[in-house]
Amino acid sequence: MSDPLPRRPDIAASRLPGDAIARGFSDLHPALESHEALVEADRCYFCYDAPCMNACPTAIDIPLFIREIQAGNAIGAAKTILSANILGGMCARVCPTETLCEEVCVREIAEGKPVQIGLLQRHATDALMATGEHPFKRAAPTGKRIAVVGAGPAGLSAAHRLAMLGHDVTIFDAREKPGGLNEYGIAAYKATEDFAQREVEFLLKIGGITVQTGKALGNTIHLADLRRDFGAVFLGLGLAGVNALGADGETSGGSHDAVAWIADLRQTSDLSQLPVGRRVVVIGGGMTAIDAAVQAKALGAEEVTIAYRRGREQMNASVYEQEVAATRGVHLRFNLQPKRILAEDGHVTGIELERTRIEDGKLVATGETVTIEADQVFKAIGQSFTADGTEGEGEGIALERGRIRVDASRRTSLEGVWAGGDCIFGGEDLTVVAVEDGKVAAMDIHAALVAAEKVAAE
Ligand SMILES: Cc1cc2nc3c(=O)[nH]c(=O)nc-3n(C[C@H](O)[C@H](O)[C@H](O)COP(=O)(O)OP(=O)(O)OC[C@H]3O[C@@H](n4cnc5c(N)ncnc54)[C@H](O)[C@@H]3O)c2cc1C
Ligand code: SF4
Repeated sequence: MSDPLPRRPDIAASRLPGDAIARGFSDLHPALESHEALVEADRCYFCYDAPCMNACPTAIDIPLFIREIQAGNAIGAAKTILSANILGGMCARVCPTETLCEEVCVREIAEGKPVQIGLLQRHATDALMATGEHPFKRAAPTGKRIAVVGAGPAGLSAAHRLAMLGHDVTIFDAREKPGGLNEYGIAAYKATEDFAQREVEFLLKIGGITVQTGKALGNTIHLADLRRDFGAVFLGLGLAGVNALGADGETSGGSHDAVAWIADLRQTSDLSQLPVGRRVVVIGGGMTAIDAAVQAKALGAEEVTIAYRRGREQMNASVYEQEVAATRGVHLRFNLQPKRILAEDGHVTGIELERTRIEDGKLVATGETVTIEADQVFKAIGQSFTADGTEGEGEGIALERGRIRVDASRRTSLEGVWAGGDCIFGGEDLTVVAVEDGKVAAMDIHAALVAAEKVAAE
């Protein structure tokens, strides 16, 4: 008997009609109508020492902006939000509010139904952006020039605050478009209608910021030159590296890094043309795993499974995100770690996973294996900081556990260099945290420049 023919990988575009794909990628949290926003704002108790505000990494005055919405002043509410968080529009869409402000809302604690702070924030910021106006003015020019490397949330936030304080800012970014993961990473159904670029345009209306794309640190631009030519440097480099699975078959066709695949998806103008496997397995337990799985399903993959090596409670993705995945037909399987990716003729046919359990607090493999057939495997097991460009120029930047070490003001070990966002040690890898880092660093850069000016004048 002859050998069976090798199985053909089933990866195809247009698995669903265009309108079904459009529905799958429609806004996860559609905007509130004006009357709905008023009703929701009415639910707020305007708490003294509001726990929601304390839980917000950018310390937005939540009771104040909700009161402004309640008084019919959505534009004023937006100014309150944006004065603390200039990317308040994106954060309203992507913040895991269920583990931040809404988790601690007294309405959540009392009745299990928090005030919908994220949706109210979106209502206000959308209203302001629709006016086409920018709400802030620049201070008198200081004559100082600051370099910001990385046009993600951290870099954009730093640049905006510095420009507001009267400095001239040049942002350099290696990619074609500014926005960082807002443009290339966030799930398409969280930031619809080109919101990331619209928000960058809105932010740049402050003036005084020049954006240079296609400029990579360590390649076309160099830290030593930036330190020489600018009054200060802010690094918001994100995490350019990806962790390897370390399993056999990892380089087979159909085995992808989930972040790179999502970046392709975000840049595809016609999603019906993006091929996807009939059976997809995603390895990982964070937001990236959920986003890859949900978007693969929305493109028409029939069977999508997330395999996570620990239990449900240990998943980085919140319970809400797990629910989003489950309600969209993604199977979540736990205590399974990848052993090898199975391939025929160089293409993925499945994945062999080993069951795990916790013994004395440690994750151990049990030896029992499970095989899941797959046409595509996405690895969503975390990213890493790439120090290229921050080292090799004499004195390098000090790292801690592979990321840039900073103090509370986001100063690095190098004089005149600040850093923030995912590239620093000790952060939480969230958009809102990156925005706060950029803001804190900008305030400290400003203070340092003012202090240096005073010394020079004495
Ligand atoms: C798939 C995915 C989904 C996510 N979903 C959410 C979510 O729903 N909610 C949430 O809060 N967070 C989410 N996050 C996390 C969030 O996107 C990040 O925490 C946030 O973008 C970090 O901002 P950043 O500015 O530090 O880095 P980035 O957004 O990564 O921006 C870094 C910028 O630096 C540039 N750069 C890198 N190296 C160089 C170099 N050498 N030279 C010049 N430029 C360089 C990059 O091109 C990029 O533009 C998600 C992350 C991923 C990967
Ligand atoms: S905790 Fe809830 S009720 Fe209290 S101020 Fe914040 S949003 Fe309003």
